Parts: sequence; structure tokens; C-alpha cells
Amino acid sequence: MPTIRARIDQIIEDVIRRNRGETEFHQAVREVAESLEPVLRKHPEYAEHKIIERICEPERQIIFRVPWEDDRGEVQINRGFRVGFNSALGPYKGGLRFHPSVYLGIIKFLGFEQVFKNAITGMPIGGAKGGADFDPKGKSDGEVMRFCQSFMTELYRHLGEITDVPAGDIGVGTREIGYLFGQYKRITNRYESGVLTGKGPHWGGALVRREATGYGLVYFADEMLKARGEAIDGKTCVVSGSGNVAIYAIQKLQMLGAKVIACSDSDSAVLDPAGINVDTLIKLKEVERKRLRHYAEVHPTARCLEPRALWTISCEMALPCATQNELHAEDARNLIANGCTLVAEGANMPTTPAAIRLLSEAQVAFGPGKAANAGGVATSALEMQQNASRDAWTFEYTERRLHEIMRRIHHDCHEAASEFGTPGNYVLGANIVGFRRVAEAMLAFGLI
Ligand code: NDP
Repeated sequence: MPTIRARIDQIIEDVIRRNRGETEFHQAVREVAESLEPVLRKHPEYAEHKIIERICEPERQIIFRVPWEDDRGEVQINRGFRVGFNSALGPYKGGLRFHPSVYLGIIKFLGFEQVFKNAITGMPIGGAKGGADFDPKGKSDGEVMRFCQSFMTELYRHLGEITDVPAGDIGVGTREIGYLFGQYKRITNRYESGVLTGKGPHWGGALVRREATGYGLVYFADEMLKARGEAIDGKTCVVSGSGNVAIYAIQKLQMLGAKVIACSDSDSAVLDPAGINVDTLIKLKEVERKRLRHYAEVHPTARCLEPRALWTISCEMALPCATQNELHAEDARNLIANGCTLVAEGANMPTTPAAIRLLSEAQVAFGPGKAANAGGVATSALEMQQNASRDAWTFEYTERRLHEIMRRIHHDCHEAASEFGTPGNYVLGANIVGFRRVAEAMLAFGLI
């Protein structure tokens, strides 16, 4: 009989062999699998029924052609993806990403993470992810609409409010969800609100969904600080990105008394010692769809830096909210040297394994995205609840629910880490909570 450690190493090796070149997927699997040794020791039935091996293989993967016409009348072709990773806890649920870097390995890493994240929320949702290698940046509204219509013309047959419910992610906001929902409604002859989340509030969207990931992240960070006897009030923070997650994380940090002095996009970072002005960010990024560097034209206290210089800025809290593998070992060293004591992930897998190791060794509190950014999908599940009951909740009530969910997620991850002898290790805690919930359901269903 191989040891549990040897068995986990074999699982990782098999995933690498069977999914060649998908490096982000390998990274995500390794991070989860390596933390599950104590769980397999306690639950030999998980190993006996090959639960990890089954969880690492998506239930279904769909790849399709997306042809569309640009404003010059030229035909363009993109590639669409939807990976239904695991439906043990509910219908597939997870966002769509439109970005030129999208390929199957990115969608699989995101889908894999989503399975555990959704389980951690405690809501009845399975895990999935999708998207396309389409770049909405610089495209007209008409081009984005024609792309979304073509994308949905293939994808619609795989969706449904009790089958698979996509939402937004990088490059997919309310505008794109609107075009996608419009096309779904037109093709199916059904006003099936629950088939997509992240909708506009006037056509079935939940209030707070726009703010949910960023607000939830800050609530989670707040709980992490409380567990150490500290508070957000007065803390100096940097936040990477300036998209949906980053903007509303900055807003909530400021509401709780923190000072956010820097954020970024893929072209530049902006350092404003007077504090980042969220109204300007919203106007630039959501209304005018402009680059972040224009921020410095409006605020003379601000200056532009290289995007990666963000991590060299002295701060007490750092929230990576842009994309995967954006915070490297050298960035972690800089953060530690400059007095940072908390890193919480708004993005999915933004911190490299080497950086996580360094932060942990330096006793920096580290909140992994699976738990810390789960407020977005949790509020999507609240949107599904409202759609199913044809109800619409107030902003205050929905935010209260989000806050309770984030507190509970923190509590569960904190408890699990302590139960397995590593108090304060949220990476381990989150992986264990998510894995156990999915594993129990899979065991109950037999071999399917
Ligand atoms: P947005 O598209 O709204 O914003 C993304 C931000 O990240 C932009 O500022 C963008 O800059 C920057 N960015 C994207 N790709 C890169 C890159 N390769 N290099 C540097 N910067 C980059 O996306 P979201 O805010 O929705 O998502 C951000 C992260 O949060 C992603 O990892 C996503 O998976 C995760 N997430 C999102 C949730 C949601 O509810 N939206 C829920 C949970 C996780 P630029 O404009 O220059 O590209």
C-alpha cells in the first residue's frame, strides 16, 4: 500500500500527465491536493472511493467556435469554453471570463477553484467556469453585443437555472451579461431569470452583486484582523487592479476607516498619498472605460508607476484583486520588509506558491481567494434565490446577508485549520472545508 503522501504525489503527477501544458490548472490542483493529507488520514473512505481523483477530472468540458463580425464588416473567430467541473452540491455555477489570455488551462484552474469556493459558501451550488479568448477592450458596444450573441447561440443549450448558471468575471460585467441574457431569452422563448447572475437590478439582478466580491473580501479581512485582536480602522492599504473587485474593495475599506493609497491596471499603478478617490475610479473605469493613468490628470496628488511597483509601496494590508500569479516571491519580500501584516486575495490565485510560503513564514496573515473572494458567488446564489421566488430584496438586507456569510466562512475556515493542528492557516482551512462538503455529497451519490 502506498503511503498517503505517495498517493497524493501520484494524483498530482497523473493530473500533469493527463492535462499537458495547463500550468495554472496543475498549480491549483497541487495547492489543494497537498493540503489534504491530514483529511485522508482521518477519512480513509475518501481515498478508497478515489474522491480526489474524481474531483480533479471535470464532469464536462465544452469548447466551441464563436464567429462574429467587427465594425468594418470583417469576420472574426474566437474560441469559447465552458467547463462544468462538479455538480455534487448543486447546478454548475461560476463566471465567464473574456480575456485574450483565456485557454482551457485557465478555465480549468478557475473551475477547479470554484468547486471548493462554492462549497465553502455553504450554498447549494456546484462549480464551473467559462469564457473566451475575446478581448472586449477597445471594442465598440455593437462588437461586444455581436460577440456575446454568437457566444450564447452555442452555449445556451448547455445552460439552465437548474443545470448551469454562469456569471461575470474579468471582461464580463453587466453590459455583457445583458447581451448574453437577451440572446438566451430570444433563442429559448423563456424569461428564465435564474439562468445568469450579475444581471442589472431592473431585470432580475440582485442589489449588492456588483459590490459583493470586493465588500465580501474586506469583511473577510476584517474577521482575520479581529482574530488577531486588530481592526481595519486606520490601516494603510494597497489594492491591485481597478476592475469590479478592486473598486468595491477600496470603497468598503474606506467605509471601515482604512486608507487606500494605491491601485493598478495592466498598464500602470497609481499612488495617491491623499487616498484613492473611488468616484474618480468608477467614472474612469465603469463609465468612460478609460485607462487608470488618466486618474493622475484629475488628482495632482497622484503619480503613475509601473504596475508591479505597487508591491514596493509601504502598507499594512495588501489585497491582490487583478489576476492569477500577479504577486511573486520578490513582491512578498518587499511587502514583508515594508511592514505588511495581512494579504487577502480578491482575485483567483493571484499569489504564487513561493510568495505564499514567504508570507506564511513571516507570520503575515494570508486569506486565500477561495474563501476571501467567495462573497461574489454567494451573492449570486442570493440572486438565484430572489429569482426563484420572484422577489427583490433591499440593498441593506442583501448586504447584511453577505456580511453574515463572510463571517461564517471565516469562522468555518478558522475552525478547520485549528481542528487539523494548524491554527491561522486559512489555506488549509479553506481547502478542508470545501473538500469535505463536496466529498460527503459525492460519497452519498455512489459512483457517478
Ligand atoms: P475586471 O475585468 O473588472 O477587472 C480586472 C482588473 O484586473 C483590471 O484592472 C485589469 O486591468 C486587471 N487585469 C486583468 N488581467 C490582467 C493581467 N493579465 N495583468 C495585469 N492586470 C490585469 O475583473 P474582476 O474585477 O471581476 O476580476 C478580478 C479578479 O477577481 C479575477 O481574478 C477574477 O477571477 C476574480 N474574481 C472576480 C469575481 C467577481 O465577482 N467579479 C468573483 C471572485 C473572483 P486592465 O483593464 O488593464 O486589463
